Amino acid sequence: MARVFNFNPGPAAMPEPVLQRAKSELLEMSGLGISVMNISHRSGEFQNIIDSAEAGIRDLLSVPQEYAVLFLQGSASLQFAMIPMNLRRPGKSADYVESGRFSQKALKEAQTTGKANVVWSGKEEDYTRIPEPAELRLDPDAEYLHICSNETVGGIRWNRFPEIAAPLIADMSSEILSRVIDVTRFGLIYAGAQKNLGPSGIALVIIRQDLVEREHAGIPIFLRYSTHIRERSLYNTPNTWAIYMLKLTCEWLQSRGGLKEMQRINEEKAALLYQTIDSSGFWRSPVDKNSRSIMNVVWRLPSVSLEERFLEEAKEAGMVGLKGHRSVGGIRASIYNAVTLEAVKTLVSFMKEFERKNG
Ligand code: PMP
Repeated sequence: MARVFNFNPGPAAMPEPVLQRAKSELLEMSGLGISVMNISHRSGEFQNIIDSAEAGIRDLLSVPQEYAVLFLQGSASLQFAMIPMNLRRPGKSADYVESGRFSQKALKEAQTTGKANVVWSGKEEDYTRIPEPAELRLDPDAEYLHICSNETVGGIRWNRFPEIAAPLIADMSSEILSRVIDVTRFGLIYAGAQKNLGPSGIALVIIRQDLVEREHAGIPIFLRYSTHIRERSLYNTPNTWAIYMLKLTCEWLQSRGGLKEMQRINEEKAALLYQTIDSSGFWRSPVDKNSRSIMNVVWRLPSVSLEERFLEEAKEAGMVGLKGHRSVGGIRASIYNAVTLEAVKTLVSFMKEFERKNG
């Protein structure tokens, strides 16, 4: 079967050159004679790979030295738990913006181990927008403010980040490396890998190292950031394959001109889709215009049965992964870095033809 255009939300499309390179090195990596999956994580060869992965992230995001770059298991969901355990001292509270499915999960996890304030919630508006900074009811004593910079299900994202005194913490799982950001605005950034970084199974964590001073003896050793900083992500046997794939993904991004160029392409892809959605009453975007994501574009058709037909016919035309999240329905095109302009143009032509036939 021919390869199809992949609009899955995650695990998601990976750059074809990265897959080709991995394929060519699967049995024998040059200089090793065996697969990268078959070498010790303590070997010099693997150390080179993890060092290159870290260097790639530091280069692409201009991560300053006072931040540690970690590759941890447990994916983004474990970060929901580790962040409050490590960065909210006993008896203190933390602030959370509830803007959709994933920030809500982060909030619930934080509530299991201490006090977490909801400083703004989009629940009443079905999570269709990001708040204005002035709407946030921040607690001056909160240890940090947590946001999800791009809500994968709702298709909304923070265009501008709030300026606050407490450390800002962001779940960037579904948009990391898709646009230029200023890392120094954040205390901690984290992202599950399976959208823009590589295969599932690891999380990237970028943490300002002074925040580690907040940790206390009650935290299990494995769940302390200080453990992984000290051991440079090799405290336990890491997911060596995913780290290798992440390294290749960084190299691919660097060869394409880095984040500035990637952002330009991503904005172009998203604009094509939003222009099509806005062009007629057949399509409807449920999302506030200022909050629109450039990674997860969601929209509705006039009826659920038309949406089902759209999905079926798109699949027949070689486009998969377009079904909206099960909690909200509708259509969602996840157009991460590896989804090409050609894929989006093909989808847009298909939409125009579908509207002509069914509008
Ligand atoms: N945060 C965001 C924004 C996500 O999109 C996801 C997964 N889609 C998660 C967190 C959770 O990631 P995981 O299931 O890999 O832990």
